[in-house]
Amino acid sequence: PTTLKMEANILVLGADGVGKSALTVRFLTRRFIGEYGELESMYSHNVCVDGKEMIFNILDFPYSKDPTEESCAEEEKRMQWADGYVLVYSICDRASFNVICQTIQLIKAAKDCLGTEKLPIVIVGNKRDLHHLRAVSSEEGRLLALSMDCDFYEVSAAEAYHGVLMVFHGLVDKIRESKLVT
Ligand code: GDP
Ligand code: MG
Repeated sequence: PTTLKMEANILVLGADGVGKSALTVRFLTRRFIGEYGELESMYSHNVCVDGKEMIFNILDFPYSKDPTEESCAEEEKRMQWADGYVLVYSICDRASFNVICQTIQLIKAAKDCLGTEKLPIVIVGNKRDLHHLRAVSSEEGRLLALSMDCDFYEVSAAEAYHGVLMVFHGLVDKIRESKLVT
C-alpha cells in the first residue's frame, strides 16, 4: 500500500500579545527568543508524529483590531483554508480570553459547522509562568473547552517546550480523526 504524506493546515489565532508567535516559534525551533515581529508568517514544517511523516503548514496571523469588511472576508477565507486551529489567550489577560470565545463562533460560521460537528480546535492558555498575574482561572479555560468540545492546555511558551509540543501533536490527532470521518 502507498503511504500518503499527510498535510495539515494550522491557523494560530488570538489577541495581540498573547504569545501566538512565541508558541509557533517554540514549536518549530524549540526556542524562545523573546521578541517577535508583527507580520503574518507562514511556515511549512516536516514532522514525524507516531512514526508517520506529516507536513504542517502553520499560519501565525496577527489579530486585526479594526476589522473592515474586507479583512473579515479574508479572515473567513483563512478559516476555511485551515484544518485545525490553535486559539491562544493569555492567562493574565481577561480580554484575550473573551476574544477566543468569539473566534470559535467565527470558525464555526466559516466552516458551516452546525453545533454537533466536531472541529479540530485546541484552546491554549499561555504565559502560565506568570501565575502571580493570573486573571483567568484554569477552571474557566477547561469549562470553555468542554462546552465547545475542544481540547485545552495551559502552557508557557517562555519556559517549556513540552507543553507546546503537546498542543500541536494533540491537534494533529484531531485533524487526522476529522479527515478519516469526512
Ligand atoms: P503575539 O502578538 O500573540 O504573536 O505575541 P508574541 O508571541 O509576540 O508575544 C508577546 C509578548 O509576550 C512577547 O514579549 C513575548 O516575549 C511574551 N511572551 C510570549 N509567551 C510568553 C510566555 O509564555 N510567558 C511570558 N512571560 N511571556 C511570554
Ligand atoms: Mg505575533
